[in-house]
Amino acid sequence: MSYPQVDILGVKFTKITNHELLEQLKKDSLLHKNRFVVTANPEIVLFARQNPKYTSILNTADYTTADGIGIIKGARILNRPLPERVTGYDTLLALLSFANEQQKRVYFLGAQPTVITKMIAKIKRKYPKLIIAGYHDGYFRDEEAVAHDIRQAAPDFVFVALGFPKQEFFIDTYRHSSQAIWMGVGGSFDVLAGVTRRAPLFWQKHHLEWFYRLLQEPSRLGRMLALPHYLLLIFQTKFLNNKKS
Ligand code: UDP
Repeated sequence: MSYPQVDILGVKFTKITNHELLEQLKKDSLLHKNRFVVTANPEIVLFARQNPKYTSILNTADYTTADGIGIIKGARILNRPLPERVTGYDTLLALLSFANEQQKRVYFLGAQPTVITKMIAKIKRKYPKLIIAGYHDGYFRDEEAVAHDIRQAAPDFVFVALGFPKQEFFIDTYRHSSQAIWMGVGGSFDVLAGVTRRAPLFWQKHHLEWFYRLLQEPSRLGRMLALPHYLLLIFQTKFLNNKKS
């Protein structure tokens, strides 16, 4: 099924709700389709503006969702609304539950060696029927060897937590080595392992998740300054569009 797309500063987002994406991915998985899911925030959009190869990867992914309130607000300002935030972390949790119910094979790639080992132990406890097809930390030299390991594991799902843009470049290069659902999940393994905490619901509901994350990891301040730059570009685009019409 194809969904409408919404252009935000050159990145084409899929107009899709959490429920629709999940149902679609379940269907795709049961039919053994090869799919690539990107969950993008304003920082990713800004990076893509500087990197045409990355933009084309985002725009050829099967689903690019709005991971961040900045994308939802930007879409609204440009009069091209997107239904809701669809985060990598929530999608990951939902797919893990599905993989558990259906006894699907899952490959996990990314994070520090101690983090992924901790996370795998938690996954085994929480999702006992899910099959761990394989896993590897995210600090490897030989990319081909890791790709070979994934191919041998024949997974139904491959979750790649290398941070952007690494994870999307990796998936774009290797996704055809396994008929699986491939998704970049950023820092999610750290949260699953219990090394970092996700913002409590109150902060999430009030769109303050970014601030909670900043308090936990103050070193992210530089990265977060991308947001005002992003908003400026959104207003500039709106202004130019208004002038044209
Ligand atoms: N990471 C990795 N290999 C690398 C660089 C990063 O496995 O070469 C991991 C890192 O350990 C962390 C995740 O990628 O678990 C990046 O998290 P971050 O929160 O920066 O990602 P974002 O969600 O902002 O894309």
